[in-house]
Amino acid sequence: MSLNLREIPAKAAVHPNDSVPRDGRGSPLIIPPDGGKPMVLTRTTTFIDCIEDKSALSTWKQRMTLLGAAEQPSILGETEGLNPSSPEGKRKLNALAERAADVAGASKASAQGTHLHTLSEYVDRGEPLPQGTTPEEVELMASYMIETSGLHMISAEQFVVVPELGVGGTFDRTAELDFPCRSGDACPGRHIVDLKTGGETAIDYGKIKMPAQLAIYSRGQKYDHTVFPAPTRIRGDKESEKAWAKWRKTEVSAEEAAKAYEPLGDICQDWGIIIHLPQDGTECNLYWADLRQGWDDALFALDIRARRARKGGLIRLVSQVTREGSSSSTPV
Ligand SMILES: [Zn+2]
Repeated sequence: MSLNLREIPAKAAVHPNDSVPRDGRGSPLIIPPDGGKPMVLTRTTTFIDCIEDKSALSTWKQRMTLLGAAEQPSILGETEGLNPSSPEGKRKLNALAERAADVAGASKASAQGTHLHTLSEYVDRGEPLPQGTTPEEVELMASYMIETSGLHMISAEQFVVVPELGVGGTFDRTAELDFPCRSGDACPGRHIVDLKTGGETAIDYGKIKMPAQLAIYSRGQKYDHTVFPAPTRIRGDKESEKAWAKWRKTEVSAEEAAKAYEPLGDICQDWGIIIHLPQDGTECNLYWADLRQGWDDALFALDIRARRARKGGLIRLVSQVTREGSSSSTPV
């Protein structure tokens, strides 16, 4: 296998994240395993967001927004007269803040991440890297090739559902290992492998979230959305909206629903592997992800989310002044 350059990139397959039917907010829609109407799933990364300390991400975004607004002052001009409390003002201000952050380069990071994912797939397939790959990227990919030489990649981009969490997600790859798993003989064979392309500090920030994410995937079931094909939804087109609404209301029997599910098989639920391709570096590193700890954290996230949805913690107290002048209070 060599890292030669070539001119024509291979056509990328449709990402399963794009092909699974989604609601207006981009969340996956699936038929539950015990049957029923299509239900909305939470995305894996969104689900575990609640256990992550996002303060560093939040201050980074604030810095980028400020720099972007300084670079493109017309963005500030557009904020004039917008009310940050009204729904319309909020929407416009959010969009302007997002644009300012993009001007400062916040979206470049995610574009570069996607690019590194694509390059790594060339290496996995043993194909030459596309023309235009920078010397730094070639160095990083050479490091990737060496570090992952003990991994036999088996499948890529599998959409899985974890019904007990109400979560769906797509993992990058599974792999058999040329070296012993930390589980020893208890290991069933394949491992969930996920590629991370954040900067050098990403591993430290991701020490809770990454194992939780892989643990969720490892306990998932393969879901084939083509068993219940959804009609294409064209907003504003009455016929397509009608067909979509009908699909959303269609009840499926448990027997039929089961046809869309398939177990993941011999996937290790104790350990997964994170491949870190730092977009600000030239050295690739592999990490064991503790999936038992990760699953424990995923269940903790389920608990946090249930508590956030709980009502009745605060009940409005209404004072009632009586005719005699004394007062009583009644909860409503
Ligand atoms: Zn294992």
